[in-house]
Amino acid sequence: MKLHEYQAKSIFRKYGIPVPDGEVALTAERAAEIAAGFTGKVVIKAQVHVGGRGKAGGVKLAEGKAEAEKTAAAILGMDLKGLTVEKVLVEKAIDIDKEYYISFAMDRAKHMAVFISSVMGGVDIEEVAKKSPESINKSYIDPFMDLKDFHIRPFLKQAGLEKEACADATKIIRNLYKIFLETDANLVEINPLVITKDKKVIAADAKMDIDDNAMYRQQEIYAMLKEELEKQPEHQAKQKGLSYIKMEGNIGCIVNGAGLSMATMDIIKLYGGEPANFLDIGGSSNPEKVKYAMQLLMSDKNVKVALFNIFGGITRCDDVARGLISAISELKVPFPIVVRLTGTNSVEAKEILKGSELIFEETMIGAAKKAVGLVAR
Ligand code: GDP
Ligand code: MN
Repeated sequence: MKLHEYQAKSIFRKYGIPVPDGEVALTAERAAEIAAGFTGKVVIKAQVHVGGRGKAGGVKLAEGKAEAEKTAAAILGMDLKGLTVEKVLVEKAIDIDKEYYISFAMDRAKHMAVFISSVMGGVDIEEVAKKSPESINKSYIDPFMDLKDFHIRPFLKQAGLEKEACADATKIIRNLYKIFLETDANLVEINPLVITKDKKVIAADAKMDIDDNAMYRQQEIYAMLKEELEKQPEHQAKQKGLSYIKMEGNIGCIVNGAGLSMATMDIIKLYGGEPANFLDIGGSSNPEKVKYAMQLLMSDKNVKVALFNIFGGITRCDDVARGLISAISELKVPFPIVVRLTGTNSVEAKEILKGSELIFEETMIGAAKKAVGLVAR
């Protein structure tokens, strides 16, 4: 689970990492009020889960209440790489002298945390990694040894910090590691870590990603995220016993079993299509589940065709077919539905589907080709 910058910064504060003063706002009026509480310039920042907000126009400086209101109004509601901005963070602007990059991430292959740093901060780190990989330091942290000075020193040396800034940066890096461990994070990142004109070291940006599997013991963070989490279709589906993951394509998949779901996505790709989602409805033919699954696909504007792929083992295909017909008779499904049902009682299922507008296919290949063909029209 990703945290918004303002949420991550509230955790930073608790751990003694300096961040600019600021508050989050849902409206331009509120943003203006917050701005009025600061002297000098403020920075107004879109709170959406995308990188490179600065370049995309989601981070803007403003001076005075009126300008802050205008700027916040322009950012709120803005589309940033496909996401609508619903909140802005209003902060007292800082006078930047230098920008650095630091983060802790989990390296799964090495089974270790890694400290990543660069003196080329502020810009997209993926870009830096491509163009000048030599400017990125990585030091791996043995979990039995903990974070030591030698992990940090190469960065401090390259950054050329003066004595006091050096001590401040060290403290920030150590506290960042503490956050990384204590919040079960996959990633904690400061980009940029700023040295201000008056030599203060401040986290100007904050990114955190918490391991989903640790949510049960990260109750404080879960409470922070709960409201947004509950709006996500992935989360709602999970509550109903379905596993759903939205993707970018236009062929909606409804499948029983995780393995068959993966195979269905693979075969769609093989025939030149793009799956709109992963969706495993589990082993039952329960019409309520089928109906809900169809509603999930209907809530995704990109879906142009549904591909229903069921393997009947204990599940009887004729049950599924009946469930499917009763479910869709209640919904106005705006796209064609290709159905592949095989296994127990598939002959009966085929009979049941005859005469309905559902497109029956005998094989998985046939169904995939059909769905891809329907999208291409
Ligand atoms: P990102 O583009 O999504 O990573 O958003 P950031 O929070 O990193 O902001 C992008 C850039 O805006 C930073 O690298 C800074 O150069 C600039 N910026 C952010 N906050 C301030 C500020 O308070 N003052 C000034 N002068 N620039 C800022
Ligand atoms: Mn940033």
